[in-house]
Amino acid sequence: MRYSFLSLLANGLTGQKGWTPAWRDAAPKPAYDVIIVGGGGHGLATAYYLAKVHGITNVAVIEKSYIGSGNAGRNTTIIRSNYLLPGNEPFYEWSMKLWEGLEQELNYNAMVSQRGILNLFHSDAQRDAYARRGNAMRLAGVDSELLDRRRVRAMYPFLDFDNARFPIQGGLLQRRAGTARHDAVVWGYARGADTRGVDIVQNCEVTGFLREGDAIVGVETTRGTIRAGKVALAVAGNSSRVAALAGLRLPIESHVLQAFVSEGLKPVIDGVITFGAGHFYISQSDKGGLVFGGDIDGYNSYAQRGNLPVVEDVAEGGMALMPRIGRLRLLRMWGGIMDMSMDGSPIIDRTPLPGLYLNAGWCYGGFKATPASGWCFAHLIATGAPHETAGAFRLDRFRTGHLIDEKGVGAQPNLH
Ligand SMILES: Cc1cc2nc3c(=O)[nH]c(=O)nc-3n(C[C@H](O)[C@H](O)[C@H](O)COP(=O)(O)OP(=O)(O)OC[C@H]3O[C@@H](n4cnc5c(N)ncnc54)[C@H](O)[C@@H]3O)c2cc1C
Repeated sequence: MRYSFLSLLANGLTGQKGWTPAWRDAAPKPAYDVIIVGGGGHGLATAYYLAKVHGITNVAVIEKSYIGSGNAGRNTTIIRSNYLLPGNEPFYEWSMKLWEGLEQELNYNAMVSQRGILNLFHSDAQRDAYARRGNAMRLAGVDSELLDRRRVRAMYPFLDFDNARFPIQGGLLQRRAGTARHDAVVWGYARGADTRGVDIVQNCEVTGFLREGDAIVGVETTRGTIRAGKVALAVAGNSSRVAALAGLRLPIESHVLQAFVSEGLKPVIDGVITFGAGHFYISQSDKGGLVFGGDIDGYNSYAQRGNLPVVEDVAEGGMALMPRIGRLRLLRMWGGIMDMSMDGSPIIDRTPLPGLYLNAGWCYGGFKATPASGWCFAHLIATGAPHETAGAFRLDRFRTGHLIDEKGVGAQPNLH
């Protein structure tokens, strides 16, 4: 059914009895043209664009738990396209453009809010690096503004501008960046894909692959064997584990990333702010809680919960940036499993096994990529060729040396 003011009114007047489920909870069929493993944002967006753009509707999304139970439902919801390198910037800007039309496209309120992101700088060297990034963005046709200390103070007077160790000198602002409601993005894509005939199969874990020689021709699951013309992996933090079931070793490490939400406050931060002298970022949800996070935990893990040293580190970052945060009470915190690639950039590519496609390596930046990731992965699966904005996200770049090292820190997952 289509959501509209009229449907709201009609259901309001008739006891809310006319609403239908947003998607079917499908049982797996014996075979599909395409199986997508992983019912997070990326898997569901891929299914949606396969059906919508390429007309491929005999598709199943296989999810081991409920859709959105992974990182899609655990992230801090920041969307932006403030990247430096040519391999990344056009892709993330394409994603930003898709975000800008997403709610109309899906007929679903994803609460996309272009409230701006401000990356603070604290030294001359960091200002130069941000000026370079801002210029690169502008050359790629993307909005960016370099603000001096006075203009930052006018926006956020409560920041600790004269912090003895990390005085704030200014910031790089992207006004079109912002946040989106993560669950709603999952539900919106699920609904759109389901409407076009895609089966969304929940509580179904992929435990192995069906092979004919080298080729992958289906999956083994906890709900039986399912054959497929093509199998596409979008399992984020579980990428290396699932790929290992097919005998592939990926250039990915899994780490936990934690997020935190405070008690609800009246509106206090109307954009997204990132601290430049440590890893700390913060925004305010529409419910009033301050949503913030920092670095990944420093060890590999598949657990969806983190450890106390990072909690302390995040709290220190927050206190250095805005000391008044110290009076806040923390409401809840959680962790998600990050698929950290060795250069901090993602992979959207075929694998060496015919019939098996890979979407992985999103580190802690994959939520903003959800629309473009789905678009480009669907393009690759449907046409066999990479989409023009995702051509650099090759799996073999770690062997050939064509890294997309956005932060210039080398093969250091903990620094990306
Ligand atoms: C705390 C935190 C904060 C973050 N903040 C941001 C942010 O502000 N901005 C941003 O851009 N990104 C952010 N991210 C990163 C972003 O959430 C991820 O990069 C992105 O969600 C990954 O893609 P996905 O949505 O498809 O992953 P997921 O939602 O993790 O989807 C993968 C799915 O695969 C399923 N799966 C795994 N193994 C199997 C199997 N064997 N069989 C079947 N299904 C399987 C999982 O259950 C899961 O549902 C953050 C992540 C976390 C954890």
